[in-house]
Amino acid sequence: MTMVVSMCRSFRDRALDRCFHCFPCLADPARRSSLCLKVALVTLHLLYVGILFLFYSDLIEKTKKEPWYTALYLLLFFATLVQYFITSGSSPGYVLDAMRALNDTNLAYKKSSVASKQPASSKNGSLVISVEGSQSGRNFQGSNTTSWSKLVMDMYPPGTSIRTCTCSYCNVEQPPRAKHCHDCDRCVLQFDHHCVWLGTCIGQGNHCKFWWYICEETALCLWTGILYITYLKANISRAWWKDAIMILLLIALSISIIFLLLLLIFHSYLVLTNQTTYELVRRRRIPYLRNLKKSRGHTLA
Ligand SMILES: [Zn+2]
Ligand SMILES: [Zn+2]
Repeated sequence: MTMVVSMCRSFRDRALDRCFHCFPCLADPARRSSLCLKVALVTLHLLYVGILFLFYSDLIEKTKKEPWYTALYLLLFFATLVQYFITSGSSPGYVLDAMRALNDTNLAYKKSSVASKQPASSKNGSLVISVEGSQSGRNFQGSNTTSWSKLVMDMYPPGTSIRTCTCSYCNVEQPPRAKHCHDCDRCVLQFDHHCVWLGTCIGQGNHCKFWWYICEETALCLWTGILYITYLKANISRAWWKDAIMILLLIALSISIIFLLLLLIFHSYLVLTNQTTYELVRRRRIPYLRNLKKSRGHTLA
């Protein structure tokens, strides 16, 4: 018996190893759960629309008469899924990436200024350039850190200590409104929240995309809800189990619509007042917001 169990285990481990070898992204548990969520979301969308077209024969008839109506609905359906994947795959704007971009800009500037000073015609000349380039690259690492620090410190009120705005996990200076995300294990610019549903953080780089995703998802759910209600109201003879499935799906859809509408209103308010969820919720814990007067506090510069 023990032998059979151990054989099963080794077979399972070998199968998993082969699977991870073919799809390296599956080896990471966080990426695996994110992938499972994406598959679940697509399945859920296909289920709702698939059942609608399967049960609702009037909709097929309507499609034949007014193809634009169904075409528009399907366009919204695909646009929502595309927007979901675009938002999910987009970068929220990491502090380290901003630092790296600044590094690259400074390095390119240094290289171009060094190259313009050198005659670069002989073999030796090119050697000198490469050596100098690497040296400047090394010096640059040091000068670059200060330039990032200076850039960040200039954003804070005078007298702010560098220690208070340095992330203890990444060891980088955070600009105002940035926060360390423990799920991504990185500092995010204009951090809003970590979205489990999308498997990414929402920050400066993708807040706009996130708003459009919620907007499209709300519109799609509302339209689907209207089609479900129209089906249930239609006076045609049909099997009771079809009604039961449609009612159950409609209840779940109604809960999603309420949640999505509230989320859309909340994020529209945040966009209009230039705030993030984190700033609104943890206002008293954020040093640069703590001393702001309440009347001015609704809008952030
Ligand atoms: Zn950090
Ligand atoms: Zn995150």
